[in-house]
Amino acid sequence: MSTPGFNTTAIHAGQEPDPLTGAVIPPIYQTSTFVQDGINVLRAGHEYSRGSNPTRDGFQTQLAALEGGAAGFAFASGLAAEDALLRGVLRPGDHIVLGGDGYGGTNRLVNHLLGPWGVTNTAVDITDLGAVAAAVQPGRTAVLWLETPSNPLLSIADVAGWARVAHAADALLIVDNTFASPYLQRPLALGADVVVHSTTKYIGGHSDVLGGAVVVRDGQFRGRALAETVGYQQFAGGAVAGPQDSYLAARGLKTLGLRMERHGANALRVARWAQEQPGVEQVLYPGLEDHPGHALAAQQMDGFGGIVSLRLGSEAAARAFAESTRLFGLSVSLGGVESLVCYCSEMTHASVRGTELAVPTDLVRLSVGVEDVDDLIEDLGQALDCSREAGRAAARQSAAAPAGHETVTAGV
Ligand SMILES: *Cc1c(COP(=O)(O)O)cnc(C)c1O
Repeated sequence: MSTPGFNTTAIHAGQEPDPLTGAVIPPIYQTSTFVQDGINVLRAGHEYSRGSNPTRDGFQTQLAALEGGAAGFAFASGLAAEDALLRGVLRPGDHIVLGGDGYGGTNRLVNHLLGPWGVTNTAVDITDLGAVAAAVQPGRTAVLWLETPSNPLLSIADVAGWARVAHAADALLIVDNTFASPYLQRPLALGADVVVHSTTKYIGGHSDVLGGAVVVRDGQFRGRALAETVGYQQFAGGAVAGPQDSYLAARGLKTLGLRMERHGANALRVARWAQEQPGVEQVLYPGLEDHPGHALAAQQMDGFGGIVSLRLGSEAAARAFAESTRLFGLSVSLGGVESLVCYCSEMTHASVRGTELAVPTDLVRLSVGVEDVDDLIEDLGQALDCSREAGRAAARQSAAAPAGHETVTAGV
């Protein structure tokens, strides 16, 4: 048989019917431990579910196949996956080059958990390969960490270019592939060493499970196979995905291709519509021809994804918009079948507020779901009416206020 395609792999890899009963869907092995036929005589290789569990194994096999990796590891959340991976490959004294425009929680992990452990980092503009190379500290930089498309500005970075910079420094390139998902982008094929996911997002796809994953290529780092390093960290650190969560992630992953097609089609319609609307100052979506990363995205991705960010000209306009949608739920997170809106500067990215990594205060991020797109556009239209009104009111107020007046925002 020829090499199976993405959707065939998504449905069958690691998901064979149950050999005992013929159940088409393998059972959820809701067990902590496995009875032994003699001391250390294991019936199917499983001893204790922190080490291995058939439901988790099935999901790991399925995801690794889709990313084209040698092995996959499932964790309790995306951040648990990032933490296990980084503590597995890093040593105190190491340095990370970190894409500046990324998930706020990654920044918090690297600065507040790994910082005190003696790991430093330099944040860089992900679109400037010269700046990436200049940030490398020879002999100290062990990891380059990249998120593309980035969150929430949707910048596009050249994964192959980042890989060349990393490998010239004997460092690992780790790509957070959460936004694109393996359906739209396979970083290992572009030269990355490791892929991480928050499976909470597109892979789970239904906003009903928290999870994370690491997929490694077949290779070594610091004299040890990457798969062995991450596998040991998963077992010894213990932040594993449970059987129910692994089942939900595996179930979601089967329809990833179908969902990403619809997310992408709806997002493009929303982006093109938003470009025509008064009150929308900028539409950030890599599928638009005028996006600075459009050509690169078209080359290294198989589509542009379901996230669209809008700049609405003022904080007041953005806040009013985010609080006025009816179908789009005001919420952190993304990648589910239902549409969500987020006011990032005070929600997902509150931890980098006031730093050089702060998100623009007039930005809202849309996770465009798979509903009927005309209904979504109608909802966004009425929210824009509220947004424009709030923007005008704020402008009148600041014109009347004494010089130096600043909007006071609530703290988090
Ligand atoms: C949500 C997210 C994470 C963190 O994942 P959790 O499952 O919330 O721990 C990491 N990276 C990106 C890009 C994310 O969107």
